[in-house]
Amino acid sequence: MQVWDGVSDSRISFDWASASGLAPKQPVHQSTIAYMIENLNLTTALLSRLSELDSKLFISAPTRVSSIELGQETETLDLRSWPTVTLDNGRQLAARLLIGADGANSPVRTFAGIPSRGWDYGRHGVVASLRLEGPGWGGEEHKIAYQRFLPTGPVAMLPLPGNMATLVWSTVPERAARLKSLKEEDFVAMVNAAFRLSPVDLEYLHTIAEGQKEEVEWREQHTPVDEQKIPMRAVGAQAGSVANFPLKMRHADTYTGERVALVGDAAHTVHPLAGQGLNQGQADAAALVRVIETAVSQGSDIGSQLALEAYTSERWQANNALLGAVDKLHKLYSFGSGPIVPVRSWGLSAVNAIGPLKGWFMRQAAGT
Ligand SMILES: Cc1cc2nc3c(=O)[nH]c(=O)nc-3n(C[C@H](O)[C@H](O)[C@H](O)COP(=O)(O)OP(=O)(O)OC[C@H]3O[C@@H](n4cnc5c(N)ncnc54)[C@H](O)[C@@H]3O)c2cc1C
Repeated sequence: MQVWDGVSDSRISFDWASASGLAPKQPVHQSTIAYMIENLNLTTALLSRLSELDSKLFISAPTRVSSIELGQETETLDLRSWPTVTLDNGRQLAARLLIGADGANSPVRTFAGIPSRGWDYGRHGVVASLRLEGPGWGGEEHKIAYQRFLPTGPVAMLPLPGNMATLVWSTVPERAARLKSLKEEDFVAMVNAAFRLSPVDLEYLHTIAEGQKEEVEWREQHTPVDEQKIPMRAVGAQAGSVANFPLKMRHADTYTGERVALVGDAAHTVHPLAGQGLNQGQADAAALVRVIETAVSQGSDIGSQLALEAYTSERWQANNALLGAVDKLHKLYSFGSGPIVPVRSWGLSAVNAIGPLKGWFMRQAAGT
């Protein structure tokens, strides 16, 4: 993983060999820092696992939840403390425990009246699936992720199999909208420029309505770069893959209420610069499963606050620390000039030189 400062060019290289003093040639599985898994593959694998399970599982899809209310008392059942979900096909389900895995605008969180605090970054994340001119500098065996911090936000190129890579470019909303509107050849030229040209050049390129390709070609002739230290050139963008999302930081005050638990973005939303959002959600799910297993083994009510409390205690603090660290990184790299730039560059070089410290950062990123 290669990360560098777009203003000062100071750089950090995350690889186990330089972090821990191990021999540089290790089997691939020992040198892996992170895995890139497309969401479609994750969800497909989860659905096929669900279909293998011999359980009383009931799946209703594609269906939306149109409302959530508390249940009612009948002659046989008292469901006044049970959330009752009405689906858009009219079906109603009463839940002993309702898990809100329903994203940043979580209807379950709203139903439970759990406040969520934070701020908008005034940035959009532009994403795209890119075709590169080759499999990357490390070939198919040694894939490398790249992130360059620009004053408007980081631009990252993350490897996928073959000649493909995925782009996440955080920038101000006007630039994101312009990028999305460009012809493919101009968009691709801007992506290549984002890893090669100076922030001043990029600022100009963002102001022109079209013709970025020729303008970038001309400017690149006057900007020498070591191509092996930056991502291989993009040569195309997959049709329909360019999209943009507003970036925000939010954290729910608690993850549980009576018969309600929140996981993933319903509980917290983080800036994507560290690529940790989904990882946090998966750690939430694992922790919640453990808490439910404990409640079941003790014969407790899995929806009671008492049973669920351990889930909030395990996950809230850990997520809060990560949200805070990522937020500060975003702010630290928003400075385009001034005294902060040399200080942060010194910090990056220092972490790069101190193997054990670098190893610690890598273990955090790898979730080990
Ligand atoms: C630009 C960008 C890049 C990112 N890159 C990374 C990365 O590299 N690595 C990483 O780990 N994370 C990344 N993330 C973060 C990651 O995408 C999120 O953390 C993750 O998608 C959250 O998953 P979730 O299931 O909690 O919520 P979501 O993905 O938001 O899913 C919620 C689901 O609930 C459904 N839903 C909502 N309301 C209803 C309703 N009423 N009825 C039925 N269904 C409903 C929605 O349709 C949706 O399918 C990135 C985020 C952004 C914006």
